[in-house]
Amino acid sequence: MRKFADTLVGLALALIVVGAWLTAPFAVVSGSMTPTLLGPHRAFDCARCGARNVSAIEVPTMSGFRPACKTCGATGPQLDLLPIVPGDRMLVDYTTLLFREPRRWEVVAFRMPESASRIAVKRIIGLPGETVELRDGEVYIDGRLAPKPSAVAKIRYDNIPGFPQPTQWKLAADEYFVLGDNPQISDDSRYWTFGAGVPSQLIVGKPFIVHFPSRTASWYGRPVHVPDLAAIRYIR
Ligand SMILES: [Zn+2]
Repeated sequence: MRKFADTLVGLALALIVVGAWLTAPFAVVSGSMTPTLLGPHRAFDCARCGARNVSAIEVPTMSGFRPACKTCGATGPQLDLLPIVPGDRMLVDYTTLLFREPRRWEVVAFRMPESASRIAVKRIIGLPGETVELRDGEVYIDGRLAPKPSAVAKIRYDNIPGFPQPTQWKLAADEYFVLGDNPQISDDSRYWTFGAGVPSQLIVGKPFIVHFPSRTASWYGRPVHVPDLAAIRYIR
């Protein structure tokens, strides 16, 4: 029995050590991937239909503004009176993308090209060598419409009005074009003056589990139920 316990402890230690090499924890600090990954935000449950509504804190809020429920249109509570909820915490998988190339529509974590110490999370839209065009909220690759998968079907990829950025980008042989799921506030390939593409060596991995908070927890983008790690701390 003693030996078994030793083995278990050894295994757990090995998992922790190896796990630290293969994955790393990050906190989401911006609302650019809302609602897929949440940065600091305000949230309310609609009084009429019960749907959860979230609003990234980057969205300017006029005092007294009461947003409409995104599902049923009912007027919600006064936004600036709601508490700010901390961003999601997630683990990034360092290994998957060592064995294959990133794919279109995949969410990846990468080092920002102009400041390598900053890790950002966005969705891959354009692959190396492609010409990306954003028109009428849709993505065109080399002149052809790229149908959106269900995860992003409702997103309109428009430029922010008033910004004099291009609507068409040609990627180099080793670059990926990335966009946030909240194009209204996302700082992404559309606006980068140092070049729209993320070189492949700056892509560090795939967010694979969101472990806080438990109500938005997911496994490679699919919702799952995991214990709320923060809540456990309070229980203990
Ligand atoms: Zn509603």
